[in-house]
Amino acid sequence: MELRLYDTLTKEKRPFVPLDAKNVRMYVCGPTVYDFAHIGNARPVIVFDVLFRLLRHTYGEAHVKYVRNITDVDDKINDRAARDFPGLPLNEAIRKVTEQTGRQFHADVDALGALRPSVEPRATEHIGEMREIIERLIAGGFAYAAEDHVLFSPQAMNAANAGLPRYGALSNRSLDEMIAGARVDVAPYKKGNTDFVLWKPSKPGEPSWPSPAGIKAEGRPGWHIECSAMAWKHLGEHFDIHGGGIDLVFPHHENEVAQTCCAFHQQRMANYWMHNGFLQVESEKMSKSLGNFITIHELLQDWPGEVLRLNMLKTHYRSPIDWTMKSLEESAKTLDDWYRVAADVVPGEPAASVVEPLLDDLNTPLAIAALHGLRGEAAALSGSLRLLGFLSESAAQWESRKQQASGVDAGEVERLIAERTAARARKDFRESDRIRDLLAGMGVAIKDSKDGTTWEIAR
Ligand code: AMP
Ligand code: ZN
Repeated sequence: MELRLYDTLTKEKRPFVPLDAKNVRMYVCGPTVYDFAHIGNARPVIVFDVLFRLLRHTYGEAHVKYVRNITDVDDKINDRAARDFPGLPLNEAIRKVTEQTGRQFHADVDALGALRPSVEPRATEHIGEMREIIERLIAGGFAYAAEDHVLFSPQAMNAANAGLPRYGALSNRSLDEMIAGARVDVAPYKKGNTDFVLWKPSKPGEPSWPSPAGIKAEGRPGWHIECSAMAWKHLGEHFDIHGGGIDLVFPHHENEVAQTCCAFHQQRMANYWMHNGFLQVESEKMSKSLGNFITIHELLQDWPGEVLRLNMLKTHYRSPIDWTMKSLEESAKTLDDWYRVAADVVPGEPAASVVEPLLDDLNTPLAIAALHGLRGEAAALSGSLRLLGFLSESAAQWESRKQQASGVDAGEVERLIAERTAARARKDFRESDRIRDLLAGMGVAIKDSKDGTTWEIAR
C-alpha cells in the first residue's frame, strides 16, 4: 500500500510522491523559545514525529531529512528577557532565556518519545539567508523598502502572475476581500494595506543586524521570512512536506509560500502542506486566564511521556482534541497492558494492520485499534508499538517508575504480602482478606498464582 497524505492546498488526500526518494524532505515550524511549551505545542511535535518515523520506515533512515526550526528572535522573547533578567544587558538576557527554554523544550519532547529532527536551525543563525531572499524579492519587484522597513506586496505578486501561485490560495482567501476588509489604521509606510513586514528596525538595545536594501539603520527580520530562509538553507527551494498547527496556515504559511515562490520564481514551496488540528482542555480553549493552561513539563510530573503520546495519537491529527483527565487515565492503563505483554519480547515486523492505517494519512486511531487486536501476537505488537515510538523502557523499568510515582513503598508491600501468605497458610482468611484490602487501599493490586503472589500499582 502507498502513503497518502492530505494536502491543505489542494484539499485532498493524494498519493505521496517524493521529489527524490533518496532525500525525502520535511519542514515543520518549531517553537518560539520564551516559556515552557504547553500541551498544545506537543501536538505537532508528536504528529510529525510519527510521520518522520513512517517516512524512515518507508524510504530508509538515511533518506529522510526533517527540519524543525527554533525561533529565537521575537518580541515575546525580548519581553521575557527584560522581565526575568533586569540587571543584564538585553542581548545577554535574551541568550539566557532562549538557552534555558530551548533546553527545557528538548527535555520535554525527548520524554514524549519524539526523535530529534535531522536539523534544528535557529533563526538568528540564518540572517544572511533572510537578507538574500529579501534582496531577491526587491529585485523582482515584490518587495520595497520604506522608513527602514522592508515590506512584501501580495498585490505585486498576484499582478505578476508569471508561473507563481496565487496569494491566498493556501488559506483559501481572496486578496480582494482581504484588501476590502483590512484595518483602516494601516502603518503609513505601507503602500498596500495587506503588505507584510520582511524586515524592521530594531529598538535601542534589541538584537539587531545589518539591514538589507541599503537601509542604514540596523534591524531585525519579521517572523515569516525566518522559516523561508531556514527551509531554503536546509531543504532547498522546493521540498516535499511542510507542516505545523492549523493556526499557522494564515498568515504565516501563506506568507512563507509568497516569499519563497517569488524569490525563486516557482509555482510551489512544498508539495504537501499538512496541518494538525487544535487541542483544547476539558472542552475549553486552553488559556492562562481560564486556569486550564497546562505545560508539558507539569504533565510529565504525573504521567510518563508515552502516556501523553498515546493520548495524543488516539485522535486523528486533523481533528480537534479534547484533552481530559479521564482519557489520560485510560491511556495509562492501555500502556500498562502493552508493556506487560510486549516490552520484553523480541520485536517482529510491524503488523500490516497497523502500518496500513498509518499510510492512509496517518490514521492513528485506527492503528491503535489494530494494536488492541494484537495482544495475542506479542512480537508483532512490540514491533508495531516501536514503529509508533513506544516501548522505550523495559517492563521492569516501566513498573518501577509507576511505583515511584505512586509513592508506594515496595518493601512495605512485600512485607504485607509475606504476612498475607502466612495468614493464608494457617487458613486465617479473615486476616488475609484484611491485608488484601489494606493493599488495595494503598493502590496496590495483587494476583495469586501457583508460583506465588505478584503485585502492581492499580491505576
Ligand atoms: P507557537 O510556539 O505558538 O508558534 O506554536 C508552536 C506550534 O504549536 C505551532 O505549530 C502551533 O500551530 C502549535 N500549537 C499551538 N497551540 C496549539 C494547540 N492548542 N493545539 C494544537 N497545536 C497548537
Ligand atoms: Zn514557520
